[in-house]
Amino acid sequence: MNKKRKDALVGGIEAGGTKFVCAVGTCPQDLHRTEFSSGDNPEQVLAEVTNWLVEQQRERGTLQAIGIGSFGPVDLHKDSPTYGYITSTPKSGWRNTDIHGAVKKIFADIPVAFDTDVNAAALGEYYWGNGAGLQDFVYVTIGTGIGAGGMVGGRLLHGLVHPEMGHMLLPRIPGDRFAGVCPFHGACWEGLCSGPALSARSGIPAELLPPEHESWAMETHYIASAIANIVCVLSPRRVIIGGSVRKAGRLGSERFFQMIREKVQLALHEYIVSPALKEEVGSFIVPPLLGDDAGICGAMALAQQEL
Ligand code: ZN
Repeated sequence: MNKKRKDALVGGIEAGGTKFVCAVGTCPQDLHRTEFSSGDNPEQVLAEVTNWLVEQQRERGTLQAIGIGSFGPVDLHKDSPTYGYITSTPKSGWRNTDIHGAVKKIFADIPVAFDTDVNAAALGEYYWGNGAGLQDFVYVTIGTGIGAGGMVGGRLLHGLVHPEMGHMLLPRIPGDRFAGVCPFHGACWEGLCSGPALSARSGIPAELLPPEHESWAMETHYIASAIANIVCVLSPRRVIIGGSVRKAGRLGSERFFQMIREKVQLALHEYIVSPALKEEVGSFIVPPLLGDDAGICGAMALAQQEL
């Protein structure tokens, strides 16, 4: 990133289904942040967010740009009448919400960038994290939902709408009759492996699941199947897994990643030949270097890219 961009004071909004994280600064060394609960009243949350940014601007100086990384699905086509909207989300109250417009209305004179939360997080890791120096990698989040952002040839992947890798369909483990929790597809990847899916499958909150519980074996099996598919489709040089489920409660993050790495190798069956899938698999599937800040730092990177 060039110096002018790096020193610019920008705002970031990580719009999540549970909370909105907002920050101003030059990121990631200089980050002043706050959070608001998303609730089911978008108008109120967006007013809280923009009021806070206006206040910060008064205190710290004029913002040069704002970046928004949003949960979705969202409309990313600039020539569309619903550009910047959250579209078909099952989240109560949020369907057809004009997020970009609400921010642009208050900050009419500066660029306001808009992308998916996972593309933003991928960008954060690209500038300051485990995607640094890589032109091709994928950032996956596994939490309340599952999503993934793809960096391909140094550009974030958009396309027809934007990738929705979290809703890919996976072959079922024989005998697994769990119906899944996705309101659209039942047992898609998100339906099988999100935090709520993990709790629904076992009847135990994910953070309390004993390490030996069979749900962990199923969880890591399906995640590995999905990553194997991503490897076959996009040929990423690294897969970064963020989101709350990666902390894996009593199983522990280290064991969780180790199980996924082993199962990805099993799923690919040595068909795709690369050291990244053999002796270097420990640095092929990794957590985000920015930790839980990948999304908000990425939103600020979206803003800096506008300059
Ligand atoms: Zn789904």
